[in-house]
Amino acid sequence: MTATETHCPYCALQCGIRLTPVIPRVQLEPADFPVNRGGLCAKGWTAAELLDHRDRLLTPLVREDPADRRSPLRPATWDEALDRIVTAIRDSQRRYGPDSVGAFGGGGLTNEKAYALGKFVRVALRSASIDYNGRFCMSSAATAANRAFGIDRGLPFPLEDVARARTVLLVGANPADAMPPSMQYLDAGRAEGARHIVVDPRLTATAKGAYRHLQPLPGTDLALANGLLHLAIREGLIDEDYIRDRTSGFEAVRAAVNAYWPARVERMTGVPEAHLRETVRLLATEGPAMILTARGAEQHSNGTDTAQAYLNLALALGLVGRPYSGYGTITGQGNGQGGREHGQKADQLPGYRRLDDPAAREHVAKVWGIDPAELPMPGKSAYEMLDRLGTDGGVRVLLVLASNIAVSAPHATHVIDRLRALDLLVVSDIFLSETAALADVVLPTAQWAEEEGTMTNLEGRVIRRRRALPPPPEVRTDLRFMADLAGLLGRGEFFSAEPREVFEELRRASAGGIADYAGITYERLDAEQGVFWPCPSEDHPGTPRLFAEDFPTPGGRARFVRVEHRDPHELPDRQFPYVLTTGRTMQQYQSGNQTRRVAALTMATPEPRVELHPDLARRHGIADSDLVELRSRRGRAFFRARLDPGIRPDTVFAPFHWGGDNAVNALTDPALDRHSRMPAFKVCAVAISRTEEE
Ligand code: SF4
Repeated sequence: MTATETHCPYCALQCGIRLTPVIPRVQLEPADFPVNRGGLCAKGWTAAELLDHRDRLLTPLVREDPADRRSPLRPATWDEALDRIVTAIRDSQRRYGPDSVGAFGGGGLTNEKAYALGKFVRVALRSASIDYNGRFCMSSAATAANRAFGIDRGLPFPLEDVARARTVLLVGANPADAMPPSMQYLDAGRAEGARHIVVDPRLTATAKGAYRHLQPLPGTDLALANGLLHLAIREGLIDEDYIRDRTSGFEAVRAAVNAYWPARVERMTGVPEAHLRETVRLLATEGPAMILTARGAEQHSNGTDTAQAYLNLALALGLVGRPYSGYGTITGQGNGQGGREHGQKADQLPGYRRLDDPAAREHVAKVWGIDPAELPMPGKSAYEMLDRLGTDGGVRVLLVLASNIAVSAPHATHVIDRLRALDLLVVSDIFLSETAALADVVLPTAQWAEEEGTMTNLEGRVIRRRRALPPPPEVRTDLRFMADLAGLLGRGEFFSAEPREVFEELRRASAGGIADYAGITYERLDAEQGVFWPCPSEDHPGTPRLFAEDFPTPGGRARFVRVEHRDPHELPDRQFPYVLTTGRTMQQYQSGNQTRRVAALTMATPEPRVELHPDLARRHGIADSDLVELRSRRGRAFFRARLDPGIRPDTVFAPFHWGGDNAVNALTDPALDRHSRMPAFKVCAVAISRTEEE
């Protein structure tokens, strides 16, 4: 039996996996890939269960009565399903215009599919209405990195550099739970004496192993960073030569952080002044040093500015572009990096080009064989599009690929209402997710080990996803579905269902852009265990480390950006006295649509738990495992309590992998960051009470 080397279907680490056909199913084991080096987490070890799961969608489904969404879904042929979709698209565009049909993509799509989806919406639908769930994930850090560096590659260095750093500041990041095999790099550094400082309102598994845990009030990470920079300046720890030679805009930042003196920052954040001084001294003097942020710092109504504050700190200390040193953001979704490079974002074209840039429009239109004037201008961001579904001027027919927005969007009950208001909802998935259960047409799609393609991991390493077995007979790939639908809409000649052909076109479309894949071929990916972008030609080695010489900005300098603390959009008050923050558990992934169906993972975490400090629990008469109701201004959700003295007494935490009564996103605040349009997932005000079983 021939083994196939491919990659885990879940997170952005993209661990290497070897699949061997062993009748009646495949045998899965870790591959010796340079990222995971033989390691896998529980999700990866059990990923083969998805392939022949009894819940697998095996045929298209349509509503028994097309006019009644409460009628049951029944199996249908692809012809019938596509016919319903084409009829609805034509009808909607005739009545309401081209933008009334839209798509919502996902950071789990391969590069080929993300590219094809962006092109499908602009070329086949001629619509501006497209965005994707990465807007809820990476958009703030990406916006900040683009402002500072002129480029957004989550980690601008390989993971192996993390092991060589002597000091690492991790802000709102919990890799010990989110991507356990990545801890081997932090562990290796620690074994050599490195010191890790974790910033998190909870004593997470990552914080437990750290040298120091800073525990700020959620929503004050920016003040913390500005306070660290204030101290660095006052104590003469900034790198004046680096600032002079490699950056611009520092004086405005110097003036801004002057107001963040330590006693004030301690009052704002709750982090003791002594720990602020120690942190900045370690970052400045115990190098090489790194600052890594993740969603805890970024998913706020000021998430872009918060990430920017840590970028400012890294630049002022002269960390960026030096060996085993710098600033990075830890991407979460499997293809969160590639998914934001190839055009499924409302404002973007392939190669990380701007849709409103005339030169970019001309280049991409030429590759696509259309007139640049045919390309729509940028549409609405993810939540702004969802918020207006089914309304005048909003999207009326929505195609959803690789996303379970009924669980993962903020203010999820409102989003569910909006999904119900659509004229037609089409969902492509492998299981009947909470979103698919609302759909008029459900399309069964091929999954990770059943199709070819490429992914780009959190380091910017482009890798091959390989097909180990064929999909079930009535299951199609999303590339096939888009090509078929484009054909029925009279634009079939622009689309291929073959991943290699799509990738070859993607290479041409990305050539000369920020995320330049022109020199990357399937053959190179096979031979080299992945290639780091940018890679402008086939004889270029790829770029594992960025910024050693200069930055891709007009003057070659990194840019400081002045940022100020602003209170979160929603603060606790008498009615809703606590801060709710959300995040991951080790055994679940994203909305849980896949992992909640895997027996071993469900046994480990059969239900979500809300994490409470014992003092807070006592105040409300709550004991461990009691059923608890959380209420926010938008809704309510129920969880069993887990008492943990490691969380701040003014903060509660709940995971976001569940829907229905356990949907924490029924509570979260859809207030958007003004730069990235990222919702404020990480802070909202809640009330808490013990409740009885029904
Ligand atoms: Fe899969 Fe991520 Fe776990 Fe690796 S760390 S096995 S990529 S879920």
